[in-house]
Amino acid sequence: MPETPQEVLKMIQDRNIELIDLKFVDMLGIWQHCTFHRSLIDEDSFTDGVAFDGSSIRGWKAINNSDMAMRPDPTTAWVDPFMEVPTLSMICTIVEPRTGELYDRDPRSIAQKAIDYLIASGIGDTVFCGPEPEFFIFDDARFDQTGNQGYYYIDSVEGGWNAGRNEPGGNLGYKIANKGGYFPVAPTDTLQDIRSEMLLTMGKCGVPIEKHHHEVASGGQCELGIRFAPLVNAADYVMTYKYIVKNVARKYGKTATFMPKPMFGDNGTGMHTHMSIWKDGQPLFGGDKYAKLSQLALHFIGGLIKHAPSILAFTNPSINSYKRLVPGYEAPVNLAYSQGNRSASIRIPLSGDSPKAKRLEFRCPDPSCNPYLAFSAMLCAGLNGIKNQIDPGDPLDVDIYELSPEELSKVPSTPGSLEAALENLEHNHDFLTESGVFSEDFIENWITYKLDKEINPMRLRPHPYEFSLYYDC
Ligand code: GLN
Ligand code: MG
Ligand code: MG
Ligand code: MG
Repeated sequence: MPETPQEVLKMIQDRNIELIDLKFVDMLGIWQHCTFHRSLIDEDSFTDGVAFDGSSIRGWKAINNSDMAMRPDPTTAWVDPFMEVPTLSMICTIVEPRTGELYDRDPRSIAQKAIDYLIASGIGDTVFCGPEPEFFIFDDARFDQTGNQGYYYIDSVEGGWNAGRNEPGGNLGYKIANKGGYFPVAPTDTLQDIRSEMLLTMGKCGVPIEKHHHEVASGGQCELGIRFAPLVNAADYVMTYKYIVKNVARKYGKTATFMPKPMFGDNGTGMHTHMSIWKDGQPLFGGDKYAKLSQLALHFIGGLIKHAPSILAFTNPSINSYKRLVPGYEAPVNLAYSQGNRSASIRIPLSGDSPKAKRLEFRCPDPSCNPYLAFSAMLCAGLNGIKNQIDPGDPLDVDIYELSPEELSKVPSTPGSLEAALENLEHNHDFLTESGVFSEDFIENWITYKLDKEINPMRLRPHPYEFSLYYDC
């Protein structure tokens, strides 16, 4: 992979690249792009950026002040595997065209500011993130010649809202059962080749790949394993991951979804995120406290638990996210930490004696998040814990799902809805803004956008399950 602008320009020559596709992430975490002829990209593009109109991008500039520039990061260059014409793809940061300053509503700029803040705090210089996005693969109705009416139907028995041909239970006739445990081989697992192609394609696009497997839920839940990386790179990899998964699925006549809870009554889709802080090449989370953690790591956990009710507005930012955060489906409901215990929202994975591998796994996030915002918010919460020496309390080494209601009432829980998380964010966000990582304007804009564009429109619409409950009233 190229490192410098000169290497990118050489790659354009050597590989007969015709077009350059510049990609950037919008506020919600969706890639936007614009494709340029190679004659328009030179060394200056990597410092000044390439101008574009930001007024039509969700949540960004007003029409009267819409000039923006995207500055490509040369280390993110790869040949786009889904484009017919040889096209080089690069991920961009958004800057103000006249001053070159990072745009304060650009999520990738926010992530860079989060790292700057870590360095300025003197605590560390690198934060490693290891995200584990899951997803579902469904048949694409557009390719379906059998007259299937689409994905969703109202399940008249359960009253649930299920994916049409992936429903759990029922008489399957000659079909192979679609729920076969965690790791079943073919023919139960019909997605081996698709996942292999997804994984290898990611590898060709510079994502450090590790493994792939079927996940717990029925009807095609999958996970591809990628290696941890510094925060901004890890967020870039999540974007590339989603792009490749969706496009390879499309090639096979399927669709892939990262929505957190597409199936009623089955596991949802998480994006557990591992995190650790380093300084001068030394890991800071290993030590002689609980689970061989350092005091600094325990304070980080203290901050993460304290601020989790707010940061879930970024790590779990959809209405659907909170249908996943319910008991019984390996998704965390309670804000606690523990070694090994997967029912706690913060798990300390067994990592042998090596302090280098010592990290925490935050199990709340799901892949409907914008990874740049989610990782930055997690980091700010943890750093706030370190700065204020926040005690995380005792670990919870029992299965939280087995606790009595009285014991359980002592454990704080995740917010029950996006609305609740946004309310928490509104009342508690100094730890995000006082560092300058997130601006007040960004937080306000985020809350307003979510209320106006998601929560209120949803509230106005009758839900299919309401028909089951009330149609015959
Ligand atoms: N799908 C589960 C979740 O929602 C995680 C399952 C797993 O990776 N063990 O978090
Ligand atoms: Mg995993
Ligand atoms: Mg998993
Ligand atoms: Mg995990």
